Amino acid sequence: MRSNARLISLAERYLYPNYRPGPFVLERGQGCDVWDVEGKRYLDLCAGVAVCSVGHAHPKHVRAISEQMATLGHVSNWFYNARGIEAAEKLANVSEMDRVLFCNSGCEANEAMLKLARHHFFGLGQPDRLRIIAFDNAFHGRTLGALSLTGTPKYREGFGDLGRVTHVPYGDLAAVQAAMGPDVAGIIVEPIQGEGGVEPAPPGFLNGLRDICDASGALLLLDEVQTGMGRLGSWFAYQNLGVKPDAVAAAKGLGGGFPVGALLTREAFAGALPPGTHGSTYGGNPLGAAAIASVIAIVEEEDLLAGARSKGALLAAGLGAVVQDFPQVCQSRRGEGLLQGLVLQPGFLARDVVGRAFELGYLIIGAGERVLRYAPPLVITDAQIQEGISATRRLVSSLASQR
Ligand code: PMP
Repeated sequence: MRSNARLISLAERYLYPNYRPGPFVLERGQGCDVWDVEGKRYLDLCAGVAVCSVGHAHPKHVRAISEQMATLGHVSNWFYNARGIEAAEKLANVSEMDRVLFCNSGCEANEAMLKLARHHFFGLGQPDRLRIIAFDNAFHGRTLGALSLTGTPKYREGFGDLGRVTHVPYGDLAAVQAAMGPDVAGIIVEPIQGEGGVEPAPPGFLNGLRDICDASGALLLLDEVQTGMGRLGSWFAYQNLGVKPDAVAAAKGLGGGFPVGALLTREAFAGALPPGTHGSTYGGNPLGAAAIASVIAIVEEEDLLAGARSKGALLAAGLGAVVQDFPQVCQSRRGEGLLQGLVLQPGFLARDVVGRAFELGYLIIGAGERVLRYAPPLVITDAQIQEGISATRRLVSSLASQR
């Protein structure tokens, strides 16, 4: 049998050491369970950071992707492909947006969104209208453009002047208003800040941003990479809030584990990136498109939007009870649907709890220093949610008894 230790020693020899993974090596998954190479089972409460929306090895998803690869895997954007067109239609329908630009990841979707906003004004003869308003603690990805938007200084440190972005406090409409100017091309915002600590926008915030954008002509750009594709109980968060963005970045849950992303736009911005201004070799290839179409079909067939709401309520209630019972360890619970955060009291570190959870057989990850993040596959069962809550209770009570 292969051992965790032997593979980790190879990883330490060959993998570029830019991550700090847990001390085990995963090799198999089924639904919400995954197993390491030594056969230990873990309940997956993070879904590969909100990615594996339909769980692991969903038979329909596996079939859709394998059959597509056996039929036509890739052709490039020099040619139309049937799957890409069909996936765009489905995605436009569920998102209630007009145009779909495919790419391969969340940061690429945000890069495209930035380019869209800037080039829109370039096309209108306003080439200096380049500035973007973003928020403190926001996370939009690691490429240089997306990094310029990311509102946590430690992620940007050492990468030089990324330029032309003003960061303001999340939720503070007056600060946004004060930062606006004729050079602002867009405002980019997450409906819930995921990496920033599962921090929901205050009520009315997105509507307020819409009003500010309408008054100035700047674009409202939503990063729904983590919140989209059903996680909050609607396809996208803005559909629940009654706010229509100008463009939306989607990724993560979009491919259910297959690496894809998409920029969704309103028709008014269909001319902002004409041929030659943006592209991606793999974006919208038949394989990725088959994955997207299959995720949408499974979410519909298994009623996973309603599921995210009911299971999210169960998870929220369970975590809320843990907060009530252990106020010395837990400060609060926050989030929506199947994106929930348990905020620890100052002095406790999510990292330490996460390590202990791994030992017990639970994949829970942190968000920021003091928040435990729960973003399980949308196919999680009620029983598995209860199991996750019981595990959390055990973890928290052992912290309480240490104090
Ligand atoms: N935006 C948000 C809101 C995210 O949560 C993430 C990833 N955590 C990204 C963008 C970047 O996505 P990717 O890692 O696929 O580039």
